[in-house]
Amino acid sequence: MKLYKSQPLKIYNTLTGEKEVFTPIHEGNIGMYVCGPTVYSNVHLGNVRTFMSFDVIFRYLQHLEYKVRYVRNITDAGHLTDDGDVDNDRFVKQSRLEKLEPMEIVQKYTVDFHKVLDTFNFLPPTIEPTATGHIIEQIELTQKLIDAGLAYESNGSVYFDVQAYNKKGLNYGELSNRNIDELFANTRDLDGQTEKKNPQDFALWKKASPAHIMRWNSPWGAGFPGWHLECTAMSTKYLGETFDIHGGGMDLKFPHHECEVAQAKGCFGHAPVKTWMHTNMLTMNGLRMSKSTGNYVLPMDLVEGNNTFFEKQFEPNIIRFCFLQAHYRSVLDISNEAMLASEKGYNRLVEAYKLIQSLPVNASSSLDITTWKQSCYDAMNDDFNTPILIAQLFEGVRYINLVNDKKETLSSEDITTLQETLQVFLSDILGINLDGSGNNASTDKLEGVVKMLIEMRNEARANKNWGLSDEIRDRLAGLGIQLKDGKEGTGFTI
Ligand code: AMP
Ligand code: ZN
Repeated sequence: MKLYKSQPLKIYNTLTGEKEVFTPIHEGNIGMYVCGPTVYSNVHLGNVRTFMSFDVIFRYLQHLEYKVRYVRNITDAGHLTDDGDVDNDRFVKQSRLEKLEPMEIVQKYTVDFHKVLDTFNFLPPTIEPTATGHIIEQIELTQKLIDAGLAYESNGSVYFDVQAYNKKGLNYGELSNRNIDELFANTRDLDGQTEKKNPQDFALWKKASPAHIMRWNSPWGAGFPGWHLECTAMSTKYLGETFDIHGGGMDLKFPHHECEVAQAKGCFGHAPVKTWMHTNMLTMNGLRMSKSTGNYVLPMDLVEGNNTFFEKQFEPNIIRFCFLQAHYRSVLDISNEAMLASEKGYNRLVEAYKLIQSLPVNASSSLDITTWKQSCYDAMNDDFNTPILIAQLFEGVRYINLVNDKKETLSSEDITTLQETLQVFLSDILGINLDGSGNNASTDKLEGVVKMLIEMRNEARANKNWGLSDEIRDRLAGLGIQLKDGKEGTGFTI
């Protein structure tokens, strides 16, 4: 029997505002789409948090023995800062700044994205399609919407007609529960706005100005697709007209996901997604992490200690552990203290895990390991509650220490269950390595050895043994460790 049958899962659905018992459309199979990055610059830690939440969700669904088709796209065209013209195209803008072709920008930051994901131990999605690889599909959907009377061409661009959509009783705004009139009351008079019948209409296809290099031919002339359309094209192509889960950061709920709902309902006559999932934001200094405001840290800069916000470098494992201590629907404010606490917590887990091998074995158990194991599942079954899960894993650590101190007993079978449960939840589901690669023990040891050699070198110098003193310095240099003699003594860089 598949595990999901005995572990009923509840997911908070943004569309209904409720935690619902999750049942896939096709038994045993799940289709999940997550909006991927716009690859015009490096991903920041906030982006990593959102993708990490879905990585854990993907891992858990697979652990429950569902067959998951996980589609996460790459936005490599069409993401305008608004519905205006070429100066608002992120790729064209960045390509001018860096003096590169737009597709060189796309390549450079796609490679960076994948490097970050590898560093943080992400599983790859099962399909990673690109917007530029699906231009034909987007043109077809645009034509479909025109034919349905839900879109119109204007000066070489095509816009979705929100009023026509509402006249059909389709209710634009259902996902974000917003009153559109209010939303657009303050809309700025953007370039391109005059082409629209109404300010709330959004671009499906944009005419390319002569300066716009990223362009494709279409029935409406040379242009490029609007950002919202790519996700409708790619999700429905690979997952069908109705699929199980659609996710993204909550900042995408409006307008991006609202537009996706409207496009799909307009094309196919029914809602595209059963469960909408939205992750909350990573903040720093209490403000949302974001490239545009400059309030951000790049993931590799945190790993390499190359930033001014954190007092030291942190291993990817620790960053992962820190992020997962907040529920995906809660705001997480990143700080030096939070990272240090996570480092301590991680080390406690690893130390306890190592102890399991040598625990005293008893004929019977005084602790209820089966109930504890189920409580780990209960946490994840309750809308992927990773902080509660981690609290349960620390309960497991408490058990290990109690048994080690001979205050409680465990049978051999229960010791195995305890070990396997910790391994499965930490490593397979949370994606955290248990090899201790998050503690700095080895760095501390190396520093200790170098300091010892410096003392020996000082002794040799005091004895005028210049041969030995030079040899120590040169051999360390050969290993890439530089000694620097100064007034305050000898320092070193590793
Ligand atoms: P973008 O490349 O801007 O489309 O963002 C990629 C993903 O990261 C989207 O799902 C965003 O919602 C998400 N995101 C952006 N900023 C943050 C943040 N500060 N915290 C969490 N997720 C974020
Ligand atoms: Zn999207």
